[in-house]
Amino acid sequence: MPPSLSDLSVLAWIKEHGIKTEKGDPITFRDHPFLFDIYRDMTPNQVIMKPAQVGMSTLMNIKPFWIMDKMGLEVIYTLPTDADVIDFVGSKTNRIIAQNPYLQELTKDRDTIEQKLVRDSQIYYRGTWSKKSAMMIPADLLIHDELDASKQEIVTDYETRLKHSSYKWKWYFSHPSTEGTGIHKKFLETDQKHWHITCRACKEEQVLTWPESIDRTLQMYVCKKCHQPLTDDDRRKGRWKETGHLADRFKYPSSGYWISSLMCPWIPAHEIINNYETKDPEYFYTKVLGLPYSGGGNKINRELLVQNCTPRVNSQSGRIVFGVDTGVKVHLVAGNAEGLFYYSETDGYDELERLLDRFPKSVAVIDQGGDLISPRKLREKYPGRIFLCYFRADRKAMQLCAWGDGDEEGKVICDRNRMIQLVVDEFTDKRIPLQGKEYEWKDFVDHFEHIYRVKTENALGVDVYKWERSGPDHFALATTYWRVGMTRFGQGGGAILGEGIQGFIPISKGMAPDLRGNVKASTLKEFVFPSFEDGVFASED
Ligand SMILES: [Zn+2]
Repeated sequence: MPPSLSDLSVLAWIKEHGIKTEKGDPITFRDHPFLFDIYRDMTPNQVIMKPAQVGMSTLMNIKPFWIMDKMGLEVIYTLPTDADVIDFVGSKTNRIIAQNPYLQELTKDRDTIEQKLVRDSQIYYRGTWSKKSAMMIPADLLIHDELDASKQEIVTDYETRLKHSSYKWKWYFSHPSTEGTGIHKKFLETDQKHWHITCRACKEEQVLTWPESIDRTLQMYVCKKCHQPLTDDDRRKGRWKETGHLADRFKYPSSGYWISSLMCPWIPAHEIINNYETKDPEYFYTKVLGLPYSGGGNKINRELLVQNCTPRVNSQSGRIVFGVDTGVKVHLVAGNAEGLFYYSETDGYDELERLLDRFPKSVAVIDQGGDLISPRKLREKYPGRIFLCYFRADRKAMQLCAWGDGDEEGKVICDRNRMIQLVVDEFTDKRIPLQGKEYEWKDFVDHFEHIYRVKTENALGVDVYKWERSGPDHFALATTYWRVGMTRFGQGGGAILGEGIQGFIPISKGMAPDLRGNVKASTLKEFVFPSFEDGVFASED
């Protein structure tokens, strides 16, 4: 018999059997358009970071039944505690089965709280905090619900249950807790899909975020670009787009989704605002925005940056250094020892070339990993003025920056996380003047608001800080490249960053010793530059 559509598609199966929710409602995607792709996603590794009440537990109840019915997989479904299992199966799973004659027929031979039989496949529901260790039964698919409240070592133990399976599927979903742990840690190892909607007025495609996407006075969702109101329908019509770095996709072939309450058409703006005003920040972040809560210190707020804005006009004298982040667009910042005076986003390198011509002594430090071709061509065209920056993370006793010479001239290696930290610390200490008014630096500041710090363990088991991003961070990286350039070219003519500018502390004060002056080329020997022929660079950002 040829396969029917419902053999191939969970959505066709839902339609064919008229599968309903636990309340007896048909499963439609009008108010849950973002769940459509997640229903049909059969990627072996899946990570869904989500707030409360978005329809995920209905999805995760129904999908395994199709997988058992049509694929014959063995499933283990975990929740934090045994009491959670009783509650979940009793109030969700069993009520869904009760609403659906087809599921009743499928599970008629065995239907207990802990185990259900579907044809020749079983699904087992288990808690992770019970005295029993991980069940000693083989499985093809592990579903870990409420990962962040689960006992992590038991969750890890369950992986061994997949050993003899030819599938080895692992699906995780949870609201997040803190940055870099639980579901958020796993999410960072995926393609990081974000829900993109398009403004009807200005056609800008965007991700809804707090606080930018809500006008608190009008109590409405608004476009982040043109600030026109967004209708519920505008929020409905979206699409999932990967935001993870391409290099990560090769490393981690996992499918990841971030769901926030802002994407839910049935949640009005005033409800989000009310949650913000009445709930504690941790609840608001994790249960409403579906984002990990960082607490203080690990995020950069707007005030921290805009305090650096100054009406003093940069003389644009001395050595000008450009920091350039490459990729689909070119993001550039321009500055000298007096701070930053310009930034831009352009499609190509024409502007950078114009600036290089206009300031004949200027140099540029360019991200080597985003665009592999053009920066290398520029380095040929402007000898001695273009430096390709290689980010490295957590090298033992590494200098912040190491500049190449001889054959390695035109390259600089930089400790990524410590360098970003330095930039953040200098903004905090009001050491990097930004010429102009706050609104003129808005896009620049936005990118800094998208980076945050997480604590992770390195290979030696030592805690280290790592800077991650939750949205576009190009200007933060461009500033970091600029700062790299300033370690070598910022002190010519005796000028020191910020010196002599009222209200600014000279940048050299309190600076790490390895930042003063150039690092000798000999320190470079311990690093191996990846060559162009090596294929994909393990660029850190
Ligand atoms: Zn707009």
